[in-house]
Amino acid sequence: MLDYALRRVLNIQGIIMIDLQERIGARYEWMSADELADLQSQLLRRSVAQAAKSPYYSAKFKKLGLDPADIQSRDDITKLPLTTKEDLRLSYPTGMLTVDPELVIRMHTSSGTTGKPTAIFYTQEDVNNWAELMARSLHAAGARPTDVFQNMSGYGLFTGGLGLHYGAERLGMWVIPAGAGNTARQIMVIRDFHVTVVHATPSYAMHVAERMVQEGDDPRSLNIKIAALGAEPYTEEMRHKLQDLYGFKAMNSYGLSEMNGPGVAFECEYQDGMHVWEDSYLAEVINPETLKPVGAGEIGELVLTTLRRTAMPIIRYRTRDLTRLIVDECPCGRKHARLARMVGRSDDMLIIRGVNVFPSQLEEVIMRHEWLGGNYVIHLNTKESLDQMTVKVELAKTGFDGSIETLRARRSDLMKQLREQVGFTVNVDVMEPGSLPASEGKAKRVIDEREKVGA
Ligand code: ADP
Ligand code: ZN
Repeated sequence: MLDYALRRVLNIQGIIMIDLQERIGARYEWMSADELADLQSQLLRRSVAQAAKSPYYSAKFKKLGLDPADIQSRDDITKLPLTTKEDLRLSYPTGMLTVDPELVIRMHTSSGTTGKPTAIFYTQEDVNNWAELMARSLHAAGARPTDVFQNMSGYGLFTGGLGLHYGAERLGMWVIPAGAGNTARQIMVIRDFHVTVVHATPSYAMHVAERMVQEGDDPRSLNIKIAALGAEPYTEEMRHKLQDLYGFKAMNSYGLSEMNGPGVAFECEYQDGMHVWEDSYLAEVINPETLKPVGAGEIGELVLTTLRRTAMPIIRYRTRDLTRLIVDECPCGRKHARLARMVGRSDDMLIIRGVNVFPSQLEEVIMRHEWLGGNYVIHLNTKESLDQMTVKVELAKTGFDGSIETLRARRSDLMKQLREQVGFTVNVDVMEPGSLPASEGKAKRVIDEREKVGA
């Protein structure tokens, strides 16, 4: 293994050889709002013309009587049709491909969290642009070429593996493609190679930390500086818990395979919303019922248009992710708009006895309880024709040191707060640490065993 000091020198020489600013597309990163708007209009025209080359969009535009030349500026975006996940599924496998298959160099698929996965294609240019955005994102989060980066994300069809990998290499970090799982080895490699930046899902990062604590080890002893955490919703409370456990800065990372993968929106050092890279994506927030834009700063469904993709441009894609645009300027000076932390997917919304609940609302409360660990599962079932919710949580440490009365009192406190949060009684099962299924990728938070009406 190279000595740390020697590696630093090599990396610094690397920066001199290839200009870092160029590699991360800094000229786009620091554009003024006007320059960004002009660029978006110009790229939107190109993107719509490119999309029209696919069987799917050419048929769609024809049906709507839409001529790509009707789209002149980004304000014309609402003249374009929305695209849904179902449209992608129906045009599977290659109905949205716009280039000769010879030009395709890679494909990925979505994780299939909500059904059949969708397939996405990339030309060389697409892979390069994606790597640039990813490198820019990691750089904005504080990563530098002198860092050692461990990617604890599954490689393969899932975009979190190669997506982060290419970006981290482009930035010039020492990249360790650890992949998902094998927790003992992850910890060993982080320690042995002085890893300073990691990427994982928040639920897996939590699992690694808790496992260390159970084994009498301290996650802080790993000295990780920055963690890029994403691919699933998590609350600000979960972020704080992870930051306390590890002593790192947890940076929210957002992306979806339909828009390349990770690197769509990322937090800067201020950790207050994720900058959407507007030189590559046009973001709108709409009311999912009326499909009209929401008022400034209101929560709605995020709709994204690719501005730079050649193999598979996607116009006004309904992400089903609920968020709001932060309109005021970020202290970092970047003009790219920010997305607030995701509330969840519209599909994640649970309707319990007529009340709408997102798992994140429960997570917020659970994470405030220091006597509890960071894993939880929501069970739903039916009792006497009524929906019942039980939240299974874990104790933070084995061998609870307080009395059984303390434990009872804490549990009833938690139940009271959950009830206040959602408006109905939520049962709580307190379990031993490590008894709930641990996630290596996206956590499955809800088990719905309710009787279906009419079943
Ligand atoms: P799938 O949609 O099948 O899960 P992807 O792997 O493409 O496939 O995942 C993208 C989705 O993951 C997003 O649409 C969003 O719902 C979720 N996601 C990604 N990053 C975040 C994040 N930082 N916060 C909340 N949700 C996220
Ligand atoms: Zn910022």
